[in-house]
Amino acid sequence: MEQLPVFLNLRGWPCLVVGAGQVGAGKAELLAAAGGRVRVVAPEACASAAELARDGLVELRRGRFEESDLEGARLVIAATDDRDLNRWIVELAEARGILANSASDARSGHFSMPAIVDRSPVLAAVATGGASPSLARYVRARLETLIPRSFGRLAELARDARPEVNARLPRISDRRAFWDRVFEGPIAEMAFAGRMEEARAALAAALEAEDGERDPTGEVYLVGAGPGDPDLLTFRAMRLMQQADVVVHDRLVSPGVLALVRRDAEKIYAGKRRDEHAIRQPDINRLLVRLAREGRRVLRLKGGDPFVFGRGGEEIATLADERIPFQVVPGVTAAAGCAAYAGIPLTHRDHAHACTFVTGNLKNGRAALDWPAVARPGQTIVVYMGLVGLREICEGLAEHGLDPGTPAALVEQGTTERQRVIEGTLATLADRVDGAGVEPPTLVIVGDVVRLRGKLDWFRTDAAGGGGGGGPPRRAHATLAHTGSGAERGRDFGSESTHSAGDAGRKLSDST
Ligand code: SAH
Repeated sequence: MEQLPVFLNLRGWPCLVVGAGQVGAGKAELLAAAGGRVRVVAPEACASAAELARDGLVELRRGRFEESDLEGARLVIAATDDRDLNRWIVELAEARGILANSASDARSGHFSMPAIVDRSPVLAAVATGGASPSLARYVRARLETLIPRSFGRLAELARDARPEVNARLPRISDRRAFWDRVFEGPIAEMAFAGRMEEARAALAAALEAEDGERDPTGEVYLVGAGPGDPDLLTFRAMRLMQQADVVVHDRLVSPGVLALVRRDAEKIYAGKRRDEHAIRQPDINRLLVRLAREGRRVLRLKGGDPFVFGRGGEEIATLADERIPFQVVPGVTAAAGCAAYAGIPLTHRDHAHACTFVTGNLKNGRAALDWPAVARPGQTIVVYMGLVGLREICEGLAEHGLDPGTPAALVEQGTTERQRVIEGTLATLADRVDGAGVEPPTLVIVGDVVRLRGKLDWFRTDAAGGGGGGGPPRRAHATLAHTGSGAERGRDFGSESTHSAGDAGRKLSDST
């Protein structure tokens, strides 16, 4: 080990930063944030350094560095763009016993400045001994994704409870086990979600139960899994997927996403088919309650966003009635995911000032849409579950006033490596889709914005080549990890949530 990592308590220390470019300004700001009394010396100051001075966070002396600047300083950072000058400043400082650092050379001076992840009071610092500051930044970025923004709250909770925990659990091994359970479980999640009172109460109850039974109630995480590409998961979704004891997932959750769930978690498939319900909705609601009552951390994983055509509201209403703690994690909804990956902006200054999400689900064989509201020009219409009723929907929109030439696109298995986009107009799309052997899930986007795809289409898959888009592949991109066999894939992912692939296929060929 070439350097010893320490965390310096420099509250009130006179500190000197020589140089007021971006680097100097950054260092000065950090020193000030840690409570140092910072003086910056430089002939010229960049905008951020000038701002720090204006805000009274640092004192700025405009002028060249002079030896006398070191007087009284306990810590100095040489951050000019002149390496020799930096080295000289460090030498002078060392001779006077002042802690010194050169921004241009981590090996000269007493200390180097690490890349930091700040979740005060929790701090993580990364250093490479000057080998590669970029590598340190890279590691830091990885840590950023692992440590939630609100981590400080957990530290606060732990700090406040520590005396009580120490008193109750005299054995170190018991304490460690206790804290591990707190940090990985629902109590930590309550703190992250800002429910501090609840977290404190749950922690007190858990401590109370230490001698006897374990924490009796689990928690339900209603999590949006996004439209398919695992890269589109949120950090919070990823974390909860690592923690859950049991996962209840539906048909739309892609295999690539499911593969990221904790390996030893029990997985319960709760997909729905039209005739053959795997589990009926009221039973799913009850199942979640029962699993949580067993004290388990239940991950309810749903395709896209749980609150967009996902019946997420009903599921948590039952949990609320039963006083089971829960939280909801948004996901990228199919409209946002498919639009982005198909190069179709949902709104646009010149083409669409509103965007409407509708379901194309048929009721008694007819699409139950508020036609006059939906068929308005100047807005984008996104139809979920619109494959079976596609022809009827296109015709209905034209009958209710939209130009039959209005551009429309069907996005098949959006954001996955099987994504395909079929473009047409209200008059032509259904015919084009009929012969194309389309497999759900699919999303329909109607509106002038579809035309922008000619220019904005960027996503390419190895498998489908981008469907109706123009131009040669610009970028290969395959992100969906395959797990399981093709047959499993078809069962779990290849169907809309209320119609099986078989239904959709039959209906489509009927209408040709
Ligand atoms: N809660 C989900 C929607 C559930 S309804 C969300 O927010 O996305 C199911 C419908 O979503 C499907 O019938 C289909 O229309 C759409 N959908 C979901 N994932 C899709 C995908 N990857 N590509 C195209 N459409 C998708």
